[in-house]
Amino acid sequence: MFKRILIANRGEIALRINQACRELGIETVAVHSTADSESLHVTYADESVCIGPPASTDSYLNITAILAAAEITGADAVHPGYGFLAERADFAEMVAECQLQWIGPRPESIRLMGDKAKARTTAAAAGVPVLPGSPEPLATPAEALGLAVELGFPVILKAAAGGGGRGMRIVHTAEEVEILFTTASQEALRAFGDGSIYLEKYLVEPRHIEFQILGDRFGRVVHLGERECSIQRRHQKLIEEAPSPALTPELRREMGDAAVKLAQAVGYENAGTIEYLLDQDGRYYFMEMNTRIQVEHPVTEMVSGVDLVKQQIRIAAGERLEIDGDFEPQGHAIECRINAEHPDRFTPSPGRIDTFHPPGGPGIRVDTHVYEHYVIPPFYDSLVAKLIAHGEDRAEAVARMSRALDFFVVEGIHTSIALHQRIMADAGFRAGRLSTRFMERFLAQADTS
Ligand code: ADP
Repeated sequence: MFKRILIANRGEIALRINQACRELGIETVAVHSTADSESLHVTYADESVCIGPPASTDSYLNITAILAAAEITGADAVHPGYGFLAERADFAEMVAECQLQWIGPRPESIRLMGDKAKARTTAAAAGVPVLPGSPEPLATPAEALGLAVELGFPVILKAAAGGGGRGMRIVHTAEEVEILFTTASQEALRAFGDGSIYLEKYLVEPRHIEFQILGDRFGRVVHLGERECSIQRRHQKLIEEAPSPALTPELRREMGDAAVKLAQAVGYENAGTIEYLLDQDGRYYFMEMNTRIQVEHPVTEMVSGVDLVKQQIRIAAGERLEIDGDFEPQGHAIECRINAEHPDRFTPSPGRIDTFHPPGGPGIRVDTHVYEHYVIPPFYDSLVAKLIAHGEDRAEAVARMSRALDFFVVEGIHTSIALHQRIMADAGFRAGRLSTRFMERFLAQADTS
């Protein structure tokens, strides 16, 4: 097992990895920007190294500084968390070249699945259903138009290198193709340094259902069931839950088996997520694979009893997976992402937290890096805390979440707590009537009432 892990991240996920290391008796090295020297991920680490000024390009994305920090502190492995360098195959390779163990999938898997067009082709070849669309990136708007007409509108244009909803455009008519193709491509080029665009059929009211998988170095792959992440705003997840209210045990088995088959086909190692869209007729389609631990991993931990971050570390250390292949969810878990943002405008609300009193009690888990008088810097994402509620069934999980939100006191900044309270009280949400357009309707309804 490793002696010392360098955590190449910040915020709640850096703390989460620290917790897993502690429990495994592994020392931790934190890296931080000058804006984060007062952060808990630094306080709780055995050692810490400042790697640069606030801007992430100069710090959390500064590969040279991070590798130097690993070298001077004598770390033997690197955990990238999510975001930042987590899905950079070149970073994973450099980590290995420095004789450090990368806690994540092999660089080839990151590269293959990071290209969404290639990932689609790979899924199709493994026998996993994909939406009708272009097998290769499209060269010109004219090519996109031809295919869109063939498939029928609406279609969605996506950046091959995409993530976080950027470089995506929904196209409803032939007239829009050219302009939307150009703007999506430009946005993708700016965000990812790669303007390649592909196209697929757009489902009007799907659910976002993703499967957690784990694979070890010996070719064994298991899934730990699904998370439903249909509550999104602008393609960004707000609430996730496990299991999905829409899945029968049969459909869970079928989609889970397909996820395992795909991971096996690419020799996938470590934790990963296979994202699907589920249409209203119960048909599912592969959307993409994320080759890292996800923000919403706690809901899976709550219904599986498996510590996913510890599993990641064990797998990277060469241990065999000792988890049954016949997953069944235990109870129900929901996660609300509490963001520092204005409740109506959704604009960031950084600054000093005057009062911070997180809830507790039965079935409640709070993953956070903030504390009273902490100053949220304006340079990074706006996640303040992940509030997770677990119950025997969905109704109990919802009741616990509502109660926990009511008892969650954050003063000094704006947060999304009130928004989550309203969603928990919504009749459609309570009935499990979810789709990726849930928020659009919910917000429109709030505007008119
Ligand atoms: P990103 O990696 O940028 O987050 P994804 O491919 O995961 O992009 O898609 C994000 C969200 O966009 C999905 O959860 C879903 O709401 C929507 N979406 C993506 N593809 C489609 C599609 N073909 N039809 C309908 N909605 C889609």
